[in-house]
Amino acid sequence: MKNFTFTVMDKIRNYINGELIEPLAGHYIENVDPSRGVVYSLIPDSDASDVALATKAAKEAFPSWSKTPKEKRSRILQKLAFLIEDNLDRLAMAESIDNGKPLRLAKTVDIPRAAANFNFYATGILHYASQSHAMEDVAINYTLREPIGVCGCISPWNLPLYLFSWKIAPALAAGNTVVAKPSEVTPMTAYLLSELCIEAGLPKGVLNIVHGLGQKVGAAITEHQDIPVISFTGGTVTGKQIISVAGPMFKKLSLELGGKNPNIIFDDCDFEKALKTTVHSSFANQGQICLCGSRIFVQRGIYEKFRDAFVEKVKNLKVGDPRSEDSNLGAVVSKQHMEKVLSYIELAQQEGGKVLTGGHRVMMEGDLESGYYLAPTIIENLAYDCRTNQEEIFGPVVTIMPFDTTEEVIMMANSTTYGLASTVWTENLTKAHNVAARIHAGIVWVNCWLLRDLRTPFGGVKNSGVGREGGFEALDFFTEPKNVCIKL
Ligand code: NDP
Repeated sequence: MKNFTFTVMDKIRNYINGELIEPLAGHYIENVDPSRGVVYSLIPDSDASDVALATKAAKEAFPSWSKTPKEKRSRILQKLAFLIEDNLDRLAMAESIDNGKPLRLAKTVDIPRAAANFNFYATGILHYASQSHAMEDVAINYTLREPIGVCGCISPWNLPLYLFSWKIAPALAAGNTVVAKPSEVTPMTAYLLSELCIEAGLPKGVLNIVHGLGQKVGAAITEHQDIPVISFTGGTVTGKQIISVAGPMFKKLSLELGGKNPNIIFDDCDFEKALKTTVHSSFANQGQICLCGSRIFVQRGIYEKFRDAFVEKVKNLKVGDPRSEDSNLGAVVSKQHMEKVLSYIELAQQEGGKVLTGGHRVMMEGDLESGYYLAPTIIENLAYDCRTNQEEIFGPVVTIMPFDTTEEVIMMANSTTYGLASTVWTENLTKAHNVAARIHAGIVWVNCWLLRDLRTPFGGVKNSGVGREGGFEALDFFTEPKNVCIKL
């Protein structure tokens, strides 16, 4: 295993035009290790001038990269995927330190998936074809799919490299150049990726990574006139701000936003499987996955049995040092986020909720004593339409509620402004199809959770987003179709 240690004042640098450089104004902000609550590195506090420099480099690199044969683009991106795999331990440790997530999770999910994203699109582009439409004896149409130009990719902190690469990989594979901004809260693996891009031989200017605050760097990317495409993953409020700026500029937009996902557990489910997976879908990554189920609806016949078994299992989860093999939950991402989650637990109690387990900060010892740890929390006795059940909390907090009929649970499941993902647990195939068809969500998992095939469309409806990522949907997004009609 390659060593990976930080000393305070380690400086992250921007990756612009193939080089690692300081922010133009020379300002930095602090990067905190949430498991210890201490500053451990510095991030460029970049501004619009850094974004302008990055965009200029991306614009200049576009003609050559877009004309580079896709086989060559593919080889470079595959090399990047291999380098990510080679650096698995180093990147996983960096992700765990930056985000607070269990090292085990970073090693088995985040980093392998980042490599898979590059591999998937590096090879996917070789199989991407466009359509032709024949008008018998009159004309033939063929549709070209052309790269668009400089794409802006903005990603959140919960699955840092995983979601960053999920945007960058298809954008680059399709022949675009990119100006990207990782979350300021978790910038480290994007910085390490820029080192790997240099090693992989990615031509200069093809990918540019500008670190800094959303309100400065993210906003500058969104409003830059030479960036016609914005792919954003993050909160719904930020998504609205981005639409308000990019919409009137007629930019192409893909928005992957928040969720308030229902888990629907019918009394004819496979009880043990539903129980085990619901523990995972509630508290994986401290509940900070946009796909985590946060509202658990259990049919009345098994409600008490399920609730009691669920509480028992959750009480046994270990909150601890993210580096320990036996920790099930690590730290939440920041002090500010911990306080937000705690405020929702307080709100739930004001709304009449009963905390069945958790509901508090976990104080650790030794060098973890200032870390941001929360006990996994289950809350009962809340109305489906109260604020706790309608607003995204995005932490280790779930509510549990009984239901009687399919009609009732579909009404409750669909009652929020969100529509990202859901799970349905039943052994009755007809019921599964019926419920899946009637849930307002971009993704429905039946008797499973987070089973991902990268070829499938990914995204939400209502306030959970606009557009789809995944498979050829992403390559469609990152290319512009042009129809050519030839009269016979
Ligand atoms: P935010 O919306 O706060 O931030 C997302 C990114 O946008 C960050 O890089 C942020 O920078 C940047 N940003 C902030 N303000 C602006 C702005 N005005 N213009 C442009 N960019 C800006 O989300 P979080 O990072 O808090 O992530 C959590 C959210 O992401 C949750 O709501 C979660 O549901 C959602 N999410 C959705 C997913 C999906 O696929 N649908 C997947 C994963 C998460 P900075 O960090 O500096 O603020």
